Amino acid sequence: AYNFNAGPAALPLEVLQQAQEEFVDYRGIGMSIMEISHRSKEYEQVNDEAQSLVKELLGVPDGYQVLFLQGGASTQFAMIPMNFLKPGQAGGYVLTGSWADKAYKEAKGIGETYVAATGEASGFRRMPALGEIDVQPEAAYIHLTSNETIAGSQFADFPDTGNVPLIGDFSSDILCRPTDVSKFSLIYAGAQKNLGPSGVTVVIVRDELVERANKNLPTMLRFDTHAQSKSLYNTPPVYSVYIANLVLKWIKATGGLEAMERINRDKTKLIYDAIDGSGGFYRGLVEPDSRSLMNITFALGSEELEAQFIKESAQQGFVGLKGHRDVGHMRASTYNAVPYESCKALADFMNDFRRRNG
Ligand code: PLP
Repeated sequence: AYNFNAGPAALPLEVLQQAQEEFVDYRGIGMSIMEISHRSKEYEQVNDEAQSLVKELLGVPDGYQVLFLQGGASTQFAMIPMNFLKPGQAGGYVLTGSWADKAYKEAKGIGETYVAATGEASGFRRMPALGEIDVQPEAAYIHLTSNETIAGSQFADFPDTGNVPLIGDFSSDILCRPTDVSKFSLIYAGAQKNLGPSGVTVVIVRDELVERANKNLPTMLRFDTHAQSKSLYNTPPVYSVYIANLVLKWIKATGGLEAMERINRDKTKLIYDAIDGSGGFYRGLVEPDSRSLMNITFALGSEELEAQFIKESAQQGFVGLKGHRDVGHMRASTYNAVPYESCKALADFMNDFRRRNG
């Protein structure tokens, strides 16, 4: 299948094949990795290796920890305000679409918040310019969504927020390109798009922020619980971390994040070119300077034509092209593991469909 699903999404074929080989007997131990203790040296090695690879690939500076948590990015929507909002200090939210809005609404029910910027006036067709983000000096933090999975928009660069901690939801674009982690105090991402299967959420957090976090919370919802135990406080999602580790190794073997970005740009150019060169037959839903490398959203001239596009593309093996129910239209998710060939096949299909129906 040409898998353009938005999430859970494609995994690299090589990773699936290696997992299949090791599934029953993990490296000669006579058991599956799922069947051994998370305190065993085999699993500790996987946990350590995956944490180091996240640091290595993203160039995470000293003074940060990589955590593997559960509950998805949606739990981070609550955990972040619970840990970091203090009375009299508001969290600033950059509203860029559905996911930023979910994070904001969750925080609003927990503590004080303010809208640091909103793309509402443009119908969320563009990300706010960095200068448009209101960084109040007393803010507890600024929260932004690096890539809006549903709208198909992505920040090209990130603001410098000075002493105010910057927090980023990178669920749908972590590891898609080099990222200056030093601008952020906390980055989080559900794994199930670029990093592995669902079940694990990666958090990259500055020690300083963990030290400042609220200690008066349930144990599992405190960042310091997980930071102090190397993410082994309770039974971790062993299999998800194991696969994430294989994906991280695959990214490294592919040439790291520079290579990943180059490949992603080449892949998405094929599809954006099919949109832009269509004389209006296809219409991109996002302004060119905010277009995403991970989720390409576009519309056709009518609902009938869109239904026909979905039907014919499905017959030719394309999966997951229907847009999210909130925005409709089309969405092609081109995460790291989606091969160039799939994107080429989609661009060819789009051009052919236009010639037959334009
Ligand atoms: N944030 C973004 C940008 C997402 O795309 C998603 C899921 O698609 C989420 C958060 C929610 O993630 P989870 O399902 O891991 O809670």
